[in-house]
Amino acid sequence: MKVLVPVKRVVDYNVKVRVKSDGTGVDIANVKMSMNPFDEIAVEEAVRLKEKGVATEVIAVSCGVAACQETLRTAMAIGADRGILVETDVELQPLAVAKLLKAIVDKEQPGLIIAGKQAIDDDANQTGQMLAALADLPQATFASKVEVVGDKVRVAREIDGGLEILELTLPAVITTDLRLNEPRYVTLPNIMKAKKKQLDTFKPADLGVDVTPRLKTLKVSEPPKRGAGVKVPDVATLVDKLKNEAKVI
Ligand code: AMP
Repeated sequence: MKVLVPVKRVVDYNVKVRVKSDGTGVDIANVKMSMNPFDEIAVEEAVRLKEKGVATEVIAVSCGVAACQETLRTAMAIGADRGILVETDVELQPLAVAKLLKAIVDKEQPGLIIAGKQAIDDDANQTGQMLAALADLPQATFASKVEVVGDKVRVAREIDGGLEILELTLPAVITTDLRLNEPRYVTLPNIMKAKKKQLDTFKPADLGVDVTPRLKTLKVSEPPKRGAGVKVPDVATLVDKLKNEAKVI
């Protein structure tokens, strides 16, 4: 069984993002970029499935600028067997990515697609769900445990008040939650090995997909600065402030 893992290149989670002065977006010039953390978890899960003998091949796919190759090399250093880059300079929105991934799914026929639950740049939380709809596949989002049993996959999801266990028939789409696993550190020998692994590049037009943006960002702004706190002398004043100033009780 092939496992397909979509990986997105995003601003590293340690970077404090700056909004561009004209409010058109976030400034990513000279900013450290990394693999979306949920996608790292997805690659790790796919590689573990391969190590258990459940998966035969792990394919990482990234859509975006040429530099997404680095993200694919990282996925291959974790253990993905090969990479696919769908290269475009156009700003990609979730529906466009889902259509590109659907085209790759049609080409590769994976038994399982493991994506991140959301990309930490736009926080859309849409691509996996849209892909499942477009490819007409069952989906289990926010997975905290994944177990393949025969032609089914059992997925645990953390929901309010407990765990929900879903059983899906393969092929299926899963999106990863933070607690699914802890990705391994990539080692230097594996980084070197990853450089030699196969990486194919397509353009959206090769896949017959129109990636023209359908949503327009009107404005991006910084959150308001937090005001200074105050010390209250006693509980009665605190309760009074919560009731009459903050109006939260
Ligand atoms: P989003 O819907 O944008 O929050 O992204 C959810 C997941 O979809 C990510 O964690 C990735 O697994 C996948 N994804 C989103 N954008 C891309 C992209 N440009 N290339 C590859 N995978 C992507």
